[in-house]
Amino acid sequence: MTSGRTPPIESPAGLSLTTHVSQVRGVGPRTAGAFERVGLRCVADLILHLPGRYEQQKAERSIEQLYIEYNRSRGDRSSHLAASGEIAAVRFVPGRKNRLEATLDDGTGVLRLVWFNMPWMREKIHPGLAIRVTGKPTTFGEYLQLTNPRFELADAEEGGDDGREPVEQSAASGNDVLLPVYPASEDLTPRQVAKVIDQVLDPALALIDDHLPVSYRRERALPELADSYRMVHRPDTTEDAKAGRRRLAFDELLLFQLGVMLKRHQRRQVSRAPALRHTKAIEKHILARFPFTLTRAQRAVLADLRDDLTGASPMNRLLQGDVGSGKTVVALYAMLLAVASEHQAALMAPTELLAEQHFDSIGRMLEGGRVRIELLTGSMSASARQTILDDLAAGEIDIIIGTHALLTESVRFSSLAVAVIDEQHRFGVHQRAALRTKTTQADDVAADHGAAGAGDSSDPSPEVELSPHVLVMTATPIPRTLAQTLLGDLDVSTIRGLPPGRQPILTRHVTADQSDEVYDYLRRRVDAGEQAYVVVPAVEAGEQGLADVTTHAERLRAGPLAGRAVAVLHGRINRDERRRVMDDFRAGRIDVLVATTVIEVGVDVPNATMMVVEHADRFGLAQLHQLRGRIGRGERPSLCVLIGDPVSDDGTARINAMVATNDGFVIAEKDLEIRGPGELFGWRQSGEPPFRVARLNEDQDLLALARRDARQWIENNPTMAGDELALLRKRLLKAYGRTFGLVDVA
Ligand code: ADP
Ligand code: MG
Repeated sequence: MTSGRTPPIESPAGLSLTTHVSQVRGVGPRTAGAFERVGLRCVADLILHLPGRYEQQKAERSIEQLYIEYNRSRGDRSSHLAASGEIAAVRFVPGRKNRLEATLDDGTGVLRLVWFNMPWMREKIHPGLAIRVTGKPTTFGEYLQLTNPRFELADAEEGGDDGREPVEQSAASGNDVLLPVYPASEDLTPRQVAKVIDQVLDPALALIDDHLPVSYRRERALPELADSYRMVHRPDTTEDAKAGRRRLAFDELLLFQLGVMLKRHQRRQVSRAPALRHTKAIEKHILARFPFTLTRAQRAVLADLRDDLTGASPMNRLLQGDVGSGKTVVALYAMLLAVASEHQAALMAPTELLAEQHFDSIGRMLEGGRVRIELLTGSMSASARQTILDDLAAGEIDIIIGTHALLTESVRFSSLAVAVIDEQHRFGVHQRAALRTKTTQADDVAADHGAAGAGDSSDPSPEVELSPHVLVMTATPIPRTLAQTLLGDLDVSTIRGLPPGRQPILTRHVTADQSDEVYDYLRRRVDAGEQAYVVVPAVEAGEQGLADVTTHAERLRAGPLAGRAVAVLHGRINRDERRRVMDDFRAGRIDVLVATTVIEVGVDVPNATMMVVEHADRFGLAQLHQLRGRIGRGERPSLCVLIGDPVSDDGTARINAMVATNDGFVIAEKDLEIRGPGELFGWRQSGEPPFRVARLNEDQDLLALARRDARQWIENNPTMAGDELALLRKRLLKAYGRTFGLVDVA
């Protein structure tokens, strides 16, 4: 399959996969530096640097063959064709549109060549000249014609720097050629990259062993590893290139998923959670607390939860559902199951406002019952706080709702069985781990707290440790497979759609000079008994042309909203004041709430039906969607007006996406598109690039397959025993041992 390529280059003595690029023949220090700057340091990096695309180069055919193929393709004029032959006749036709006509003869047929308005061609083209031409075909009478073809002398010396790609295949074979085009950089041309990769490829591939067992490869119809690299770098066909890339992408995904599954298996081995009781009576009792019938989607999640919570392995589940989809009651269900089994439950929210809202709304649902629920935040008085801490440790509090304050050292539970983390995307990864350690024997847990996250224990049979069941919730839906992959060993439940009776939110974008009309309209809706939010970006005092919340509210009071009840809410308002404002707003004593993004999560006032976002282009897409989720909660139609004059393409894209859809899942995909997964998951900072070959958007089928296989694999053979798997096990530990804290299983 490599016939006709650049003649094989002698591999420098001792070339290995770790050989540095500077040691590759023909790579000087300057070029080596350029390679390093794009992360290509050694031979292994080079062969993993896949072409971004391929250029199809039509191989040369006899002229007779060209006619046959042209007719067979019913006159396909889109692709270039090439031919060699001798110029048989030349004619110059002068005039304003002068042209030079020639015929090219290769002994099998004749091709017409025409150059328009290039009188100088007369000097170059003459009968008897042997040339090679390329161009797009048209017809002229019976003839196939190339208009303004490119040409070169047929006896031009081969092998020189003639501008052709280095791995160009000889045309003699008659096959079309795919030339790899590699991602390059400012000081590194795709051609340089191609040359070096082509050079190391054969010796490098000779060193590569396939880590997948033959039987498995056969079952999944996967090409062999070294072949896959060859297919990607030197494909015979585009199908080849695709198949090779998919094998390499699959490898990455499979390895990652094996890491995830192994970690999950190891964790299940060592940690235990209280198995909760579930009976018909308990179920009925809990559901009776909810002021509405659950949707089918919510009930499906309850079933997931029941399965998890009645088991003795700690639940580790992500619940994702769009803003307003009704996640809170689902979480409450889990918490009440804990309480029904005489255990405790905790709900952690990212902001005090949200924690307070949960405390209020859940408190209302539990009113008159025996369940004791308390709120713990950072801004409580020391004595109030101490009372709660004591009662919590004594087991007198059933459900505790709070902020990060729940994670502090002094918080001890008597028997924590269910921990819920709301809006988990606003928390760091570590906080989930921290809450997990808040188990029954808080003292013991505190002792090995340090090791819990790293999991670098070398003890092959670690002590069994207690862990609560953990439910994390997010309203920034992550495309499902992506969530499964990237959030590691989480199981995922999804609530699609909203509770019945909701009206879709209409979203409009207007420029700043139209804001008077917007507020006039807002006033009319307020006068008709509706309520509204006005969201203002948090700004530093004196930022050009931007008003802070208070100033903006004053302007509205003095102007379009004169005489209406306008209140402000922002992060620096103290707790009592904040609660008063929220109570007044919920009770309808406030018409318009002018706020920063503090209202982004948690505020739930169905009568609020209009939202105006000032300088909307300054907000992130997920954030805008989250904000918009504050309206559209009642049965009246809601309107969201985004005011902004976006100056960047991204800003425009975000606003367009908001206007185009209300669907949080679509928004999430869009956000992914605009920002990339790296930023979404904070990898930019952590410098932990997930995959080099796999593309999370395109390779979802591979991802699903990798996940399924990895799960089955680890379930059947949790230690990955056997010679067949030795290499795979080694690569797995090398790639993910540290990230996942895997114990060497061999
Ligand atoms: P989110 O998923 O954004 O946390 P919430 O749990 O705050 O959503 O629910 C949004 C609103 O929908 C709340 O007012 C809640 O009471 C209401 N709700 C939830 N489930 C239902 C349901 N099945 N039928 C009617 N209303 C519901
Ligand atoms: Mg919520």
